[in-house]
Amino acid sequence: MTETRITPTVAVVGGGFTGLTAAYELAKQGYSVDVYEAAPQVGGLVAGFTLDDGFPLEKAYHFLYTTDNHIIDMAKELGVDDKLDFHPSSIKAFYKGEKYGFTTPLELLSFTPLSFINRVRTGVTGLVLLRLKNWKPLTTITAYDWLCKVNGKKATDLVWKPLLQGKFDIYWDKITMAWLWTRIHVRQTSKIKGERTERLGYFNGGFRIVVDRWLQELEKRDARVYTSSQITSFDEKDGKPMITVGGEQKQYDAVLAALPSNAFARIAGDHPSMTPTYQKQLLDIDYLAAVLLVVTTTKPITDTYWHQIHDLDAPFLVFLSLDSLIGTENTGGRYIYYIGDYTQNDSELMGLTDDQIRERWYAGANRLFPEFSEDIVVESHVFKFKNAQHIVDVTYESRLPEMRTDLPGYYLANFSQIFPEDRGTNYAVREGLKVAEMITKDLGRAGLAIEDSSSSGLTIADLAAETAGLDSDGSDRQKGLVG
Ligand SMILES: Cc1cc2nc3c(=O)[nH]c(=O)nc-3n(C[C@H](O)[C@H](O)[C@H](O)COP(=O)(O)OP(=O)(O)OC[C@H]3O[C@@H](n4cnc5c(N)ncnc54)[C@H](O)[C@@H]3O)c2cc1C
Repeated sequence: MTETRITPTVAVVGGGFTGLTAAYELAKQGYSVDVYEAAPQVGGLVAGFTLDDGFPLEKAYHFLYTTDNHIIDMAKELGVDDKLDFHPSSIKAFYKGEKYGFTTPLELLSFTPLSFINRVRTGVTGLVLLRLKNWKPLTTITAYDWLCKVNGKKATDLVWKPLLQGKFDIYWDKITMAWLWTRIHVRQTSKIKGERTERLGYFNGGFRIVVDRWLQELEKRDARVYTSSQITSFDEKDGKPMITVGGEQKQYDAVLAALPSNAFARIAGDHPSMTPTYQKQLLDIDYLAAVLLVVTTTKPITDTYWHQIHDLDAPFLVFLSLDSLIGTENTGGRYIYYIGDYTQNDSELMGLTDDQIRERWYAGANRLFPEFSEDIVVESHVFKFKNAQHIVDVTYESRLPEMRTDLPGYYLANFSQIFPEDRGTNYAVREGLKVAEMITKDLGRAGLAIEDSSSSGLTIADLAAETAGLDSDGSDRQKGLVG
């Protein structure tokens, strides 16, 4: 009698960076992996597109910090770290039509809309945040209240409030200071030793080179990736998870929902283990959408990467110049701009047509940069993402959803579980690896081995040895199981 293994099957629902990381790791561990992505392409919020001439870009602006070790390590493992360059960044602030440098401490001291005392106080606030290592006490106070106390109301209303409003819309005064602390901390520490300005990383060729490598690795391990495949229900049969896709039901040993918490709650609404309390916990996590307009122009209109807007009536939150960050030598001489804003999932902005958004935002861009007009636009693309940012209020830490869900065999991994850090590709990779490890532990690599007298398959000893990259006789051989 010999023992054989049934390769455990895992469905990964959601082909964003969290889902792809987990799928890659699980496939590496030898699981049989199916990835289901609702959109026509994988990548999620980092999904790419190409300009009319084929130049690849992300639909939403993306960069890395020098401290983003999880994704940097993943890039090394995938062999694409040589494509990642960290470029000096530059920031300008717009206030009442005027442009101010906002990158170095000296520039901050020249931000004349604030009185000299308030400028110094704003600088000191930055230093306090940099020195502060324990963010725990900040979780229960709002960013606005903390800043009013430390930075003063005047400076807070002029500098911070518009940024909080732009990022969090109607929730701006609910956001925990712990979130803002990490946000500022990471920017202040994203530097190369000895330099004063932050550096931001961008993959030469775009973030798609990471996605493409994951897809290659998945294909190599016989994992299947289904795009345009929306999962419509999470259920169970005979104690095992069962998903519905295109009206068809499929059973797995484990299902990873790498999608927003509210989407998981709805899709799993009829699962026998879903309780009203658990569903409410998930649905109580509020999300905002993001709207992006990517524009290329015939001539440059700024030499600064990041423009933040401090006018409360501004039509958008940020205006970014990719070529100013990575250099026109890396954009093939193209001038590429991202205009972006966060808004409610069902807002008026989300309901506008692409042309209406263009009209509104071109007018806004023209107010900031008189040299900008529709006449110099070569091409433009509008993208809308629902559930692009979750709301981290002062109660958030106690409401974080667990990765092991209340539904047997179902796991949840998404950016609403990241706290206090801001969501980001770095944490998507970290959480993807974490959930893959959890699934591996729960399923047990050799745990599904069964006795089978007719088969000449692998034994438990083989499986244990495979995990260690050895033959059961102890000799070295290629890692990676079937599946
Ligand atoms: C405007 C903007 C700028 C950003 N800038 C940066 C940056 O500069 N640097 C950085 O590191 N990060 C940045 N981020 C954050 C980063 O994009 C996210 O943290 C990361 O992409 C999250 O990955 P995810 O896989 O957890 O989620 P998602 O990317 O949201 O992936 C979830 C996937 O699930 C799919 N899905 C949903 N429902 C279903 C269903 N029923 N069936 C099948 N599939 C489904 C979705 O289509 C999606 O592809 C930015 C985000 C935005 C919106």
